[in-house]
Amino acid sequence: NGVRLERVREHVWEIPREGGMNVPARVLASEALLEQIGDDKTLQQLRNATHLPGIADRAICMPDGHQGYGFPVGGVGATDVETGCISPGAIGYDINCGVRMMRTNLTYDDVVGHEEELVDALFANVPSGLGGGGIVESDRDTLESILNRGVDWALEHGYAVEDDLAHCEDEGMRPDADPDAVSQKAKDRGKNQVGSLGSGNHFLEVQRVTDIFRPEVATEFGLEADQIVVLIHCGSRGLGHQICTDYLREIEREHGDLLAELPDKELAAAPAGSQLAEEYYGAMCAAINFAWVNRQLIMHRTRRVFERVFERDWESMEMELLYDVAHNIGKKEVHEVGVDADGRPAAPDEAVDRAERELYVHRKGATRAFPAGRPELPAAYRDVGQPIIIPGSMGAGSYVLRGGEESMAVSFGSTAHGAGRTMSRTQAKNEYWGETVQEELRDQEQIYVKAQSGATVAEEAPGVYKSVDEVVRVSDELGIGDKVARTFPVCNIKG
Ligand code: 5GP
Ligand code: MN
Ligand code: MN
Repeated sequence: NGVRLERVREHVWEIPREGGMNVPARVLASEALLEQIGDDKTLQQLRNATHLPGIADRAICMPDGHQGYGFPVGGVGATDVETGCISPGAIGYDINCGVRMMRTNLTYDDVVGHEEELVDALFANVPSGLGGGGIVESDRDTLESILNRGVDWALEHGYAVEDDLAHCEDEGMRPDADPDAVSQKAKDRGKNQVGSLGSGNHFLEVQRVTDIFRPEVATEFGLEADQIVVLIHCGSRGLGHQICTDYLREIEREHGDLLAELPDKELAAAPAGSQLAEEYYGAMCAAINFAWVNRQLIMHRTRRVFERVFERDWESMEMELLYDVAHNIGKKEVHEVGVDADGRPAAPDEAVDRAERELYVHRKGATRAFPAGRPELPAAYRDVGQPIIIPGSMGAGSYVLRGGEESMAVSFGSTAHGAGRTMSRTQAKNEYWGETVQEELRDQEQIYVKAQSGATVAEEAPGVYKSVDEVVRVSDELGIGDKVARTFPVCNIKG
């Protein structure tokens, strides 16, 4: 594929700096994963990202990386907030796509025999698919509140309890949100989708805990073997998608000079300090709040479904939020990076010093993985490290990790976000037939899947994903995200 990689050490590969690259790039992967990553345009896209102005230290690809729009899914790039830029394609169309895990005190035995009833009730009550409304129909003022206040809005309206906020990244609210920077079209697309999974890769999965790797951390997270947990994966629906579309178009038009210097039009970026950079950041933060409310409402609805199926109230089933974390997001964060004599980010071979800089950390298909002690973490996890949730597939394990000690030095405090695809959706539909996949999962693995369409099941068949065990092994061995527990699907609903 024309991209030269040098081995730095185990699981770390470097694309050396040359030509217009501002910094080198690194891939974090085992040899087996690297072979799959080299298959598509991922490495070219990673190298292209190093051309972004003001990029610090290096662009990084996580072990689950694959190609995306302009910038790899599984990519991390940090740019200076004063002298750099912000790039919507490096954050992704589905702004604040992310995952939340809810604990219960049920065990697998409590659920066996109820799977069919549970999956039907979840499917009937949690809106999913392309069309069909959300849990809340929001008017203008409601939407404005959701965009401004995030989960705090849900708390006021009885869709959340205080404890939910305390266990969400940023406590479920980004104060930098600017609803005025969100177009009417984006608002119109989002207003009837608050509390909906959407389609395709998004899902709600009831799981059982199969393995515990770090018992002390698992105890802090409230996890034990055989326990039932619920994983919710979705994002900001049409609202976030429209914001990304709107700003890409405007940035391409307004900042053509910068665009001309970039190797790929899809990397279009607004220079730090420009009006579009500010507006996009404000709109993106509004979409972040929207997505947190989205996952909150779905969790709330899930509690109700469990109450009906198990005939107990959700408090007595201890259905508490373990954590909610974004994996498509841009955040202002302070990191120590290599700088030149003027204090601006510089490539490692040209840096004269290291200093703390405020950066736009772009994480697209990458999860924040802050270790214990970081002030950004909610009080509940400040002493143990941030919970990280890495879904595998509807037929494989998923993982809970915690932020590793090495993550700040290696990956701007980040790790993987999933297993990562190995084949396109079109290819998947040629390989698999939805109903057959569903039957096999049920008959061979006792996994109950219900989806809006058979095509979705085929597109998301377990075989289209890389090995999540391998992805997590690399994260754990690098010390960026430490294995805590593994789960396995019981019931799964999809769009
Ligand atoms: P993305 O956000 O990039 O679409 O996907 C996140 C990850 O979720 C994928 O890389 C894949 O590993 C995982 N995934 C996709 N579908 C399912 C599912 O039905 N269940 C579970 N547990 N994981 C899934
Ligand atoms: Mn998404
Ligand atoms: Mn996602």
